[in-house]
This record gives sequence, C-alpha cells and structure tokens, in this order.
Amino acid sequence: MLTRMDVITLLVAVLVNALLMSVALAVGVGIRTRSGLQSWQFMLLGQAIGFGLLIAATQTTPRLMATLGVMALSASCSAMVLTAYRFLGRQAPLRWLLAPPLMLGFVHAIVFRDQPLATGLTNFTIGVQTLWAGWLLLHGAGRVRWRWLCGVAALANALLTLGRVVLVFGWPEAYPRFIAPHPLNFAHLLMLNASLVLGTMGFLLAHRDAAEQALVRLASLDTLTGLLNRREWMSRAGQALKTAGEPGVLLMLDLDHFKRINDERGHPVGDEVIKLTGEVLRGELRATDLVGRYGGEEFCLLLRHCEPEAFSRLDARLHQALTRRCEASLGFVVDFSAGAVRVEAGEALAAAIKRADDQLYRAKHAGRGRTCCADGVL
Ligand code: GH3
Ligand code: MG
Ligand code: MG
Repeated sequence: MLTRMDVITLLVAVLVNALLMSVALAVGVGIRTRSGLQSWQFMLLGQAIGFGLLIAATQTTPRLMATLGVMALSASCSAMVLTAYRFLGRQAPLRWLLAPPLMLGFVHAIVFRDQPLATGLTNFTIGVQTLWAGWLLLHGAGRVRWRWLCGVAALANALLTLGRVVLVFGWPEAYPRFIAPHPLNFAHLLMLNASLVLGTMGFLLAHRDAAEQALVRLASLDTLTGLLNRREWMSRAGQALKTAGEPGVLLMLDLDHFKRINDERGHPVGDEVIKLTGEVLRGELRATDLVGRYGGEEFCLLLRHCEPEAFSRLDARLHQALTRRCEASLGFVVDFSAGAVRVEAGEALAAAIKRADDQLYRAKHAGRGRTCCADGVL
C-alpha cells in the first residue's frame, strides 16, 4: 500500500493540515503575545510554508526554493522547541533557536548540488531539533498527560527524520532523496501529519490546564497580598480542624488606626501597608502555618504545633517586623492588635474565630499594639 502513495500528495496534505490548524488556532483561541500556543501556531505556519517551498522547488528555481524551504522547516522546529519551553515555564535559549535555521540555510545553499549531503544535513538538523523538543517535554513528564502526548509525537517524528539521515548516508542508492517514493518518506509524512494533529491537541490541553490553574489561583488568592483569601482560608482551616490531631493556635490580627493612614496619607499608601503586612506574615511564618487575609486590614493565622514559648517569640517577632518594615519602606510606624486562642481538633471554625475575635476586641480596648490570649495559648 505504501508504494501506491506519492510524496507530493502527502506533502500537500501536511501543508493544508498545518495551514488550517494554524489559522484555526489564530481565529479560535486568539493568540496572546508570547504564549505557548502562539509559538505552536508559528510552528504550524512554518511547516506549511516550508513544504510549500519544497513543492515549488520541484517546479522552479530549485536551489533557492529548497533552501528557503528547509530554513522555514528548521525555523518551525525552533518554534516547536520554544513552545515546549513556554509551556514548561522556562526561559528558552534564543541563540540556539535562531542558529539552526540560519546555518542550515547557508550550508544547504552551498551543498545543494550534492543531493544526499543536502538531504542528510537537513534531516539531521531538523531531527535533532525535534528530538530536543521531545526530550524537553518527556523529561520529568510525570503524570501530565499533554506532555506525554506532545513528547511522544515529537520523539516518533524525530526518530523517523533521523532514520532518513542514516539511510541517505549509509545507502544513498536505496534512498536517493527526500522527494523519492521511498517507504520511509511515506511513513514519515504520515507520522508528521499525525504528530501535528496530536501536538495541536496536546498543546490545546496544556493551554486549558494553564488557564484552569490561573483561575484556581485567582479564586483562592487575595490579589493585593498574594495570601489566601477569606474563602480559601476558611475552607483550609476548617479542613485542618477536622483532621489535625494536634491542637494549634488561631490568631486574628487587625492593623491599628488604619482608617487614619488612609485618611491622612491616601488609599494607595494604605494598600501598601496591607501589602507589607502580607510580606511580613509570609516571611515570619512556617510553611505549615495557614495565613489568609480575612478582610480589609484583618488577617487570620492558624499556627500548627505552636507551644506557648514558640508562640510568644513569634508574636514578638511579628510586632517588631511589621513596625520595622513599615518604618523602613514608608517612613512611619504601623502596629497591630491581635487575639489568640488555642483550638482543638474537632472544634467548629466559626466558634474558634468568635473566641479569637473576642480576644482581639480586648486587645483594642487595652490600648492596641498588643496580642491578648485566651487560656492555654501562653
Ligand atoms: P482600629 O485600630 O480600631 O482597628 O482602627 P481602624 O482605623 O483600623 O478601624 P478599622 O479596622 O475598622 O478600619 C478598617 C479600614 O480599612 C476601613 C477601610 O476603609 C479600610 N480598608 C479596608 N480594605 C482596604 C483596602 O483594601 N485598602 C485600603 N487602603 N483600605 C482598606
Ligand atoms: Mg478592621
Ligand atoms: Mg484596624
């Protein structure tokens, strides 16, 4: 069956597929600048242009058309590597992406008359680039399905491309050139077509995953401080109280005279104070502590395994750190009042918050700038 196919028809099929998927991505998803999907769209476009030029090379100015064609294909492989880097959230080494298409174009134009050499060099360059993309995606892929899908497609493609290099250098009579009706050419073009479709599906899944994660982040974090928002903190703290075997300390904290800061220095300065408080809390607490912005300039903390002595040290550190931080950054001192209660596993969160709030109220009435504790905290 393979021998009844012909290369040009398969090339046209790849070209049309790549072009349509590229246009569909641009229209359907909308291409944000510097996203992974944007580079994949360029990759598809590069394939379409490259194969278009290779087809044109069979009709007119073969050296020029074929050289531009292989440059477009290599540039499109660089776009594939860039796509992988972007979806993995890593910085791509730009010079290693630019060099292959430029060098390949230069060398290809020089050795064009030697068809096996030109074919071998082209496939070697493109094969290594595709291998690079496949390796990036599969390396540490874990259970991420889109990475397996895209990585395996790239790898299979790379192996068939590199297979051409072996044939063209090892058995040049049996495998004269890329356009020849050889089973490897048919197999490769079929694989390429499939891998472009699979890659597009995989990267669309990756795009959806990234969008979903961004939404989850948006829904659970407070935008000003980056701490958990009230809803997320309540949900996690409620869960922790249900499951934690050890008692912990619940600390509710409210900045002192905050209205005055807003009134006298302006709302943006007030925002800056809230931000700095978030940074101080993040900096002073352990990874196991749960800290959230409860509302306005109120914060809530669930401290696990917090013995009286450790709590006393932490409380002193927090007061001191906030005062120093605001003085250093804004030129004035800010302090807070707080209420702390010990919570037992199984206690309802709302009841614990009410008890901590009562202590906070006591701290405000006792003159602010202090932490009042219920029995058992200290
Ligand atoms: P107290 O010492 O008794 O706590 O006095 P206070 O002035 O801090 O009083 P309160 O806690 O009631 O003040 C809360 C103020 O915080 C009121 C509100 O305008 C302000 N606020 C709430 N959210 C924000 C915010 O996101 N940014 C800014 N700049 N201000 C906020
Ligand atoms: Mg308040
Ligand atoms: Mg306040």
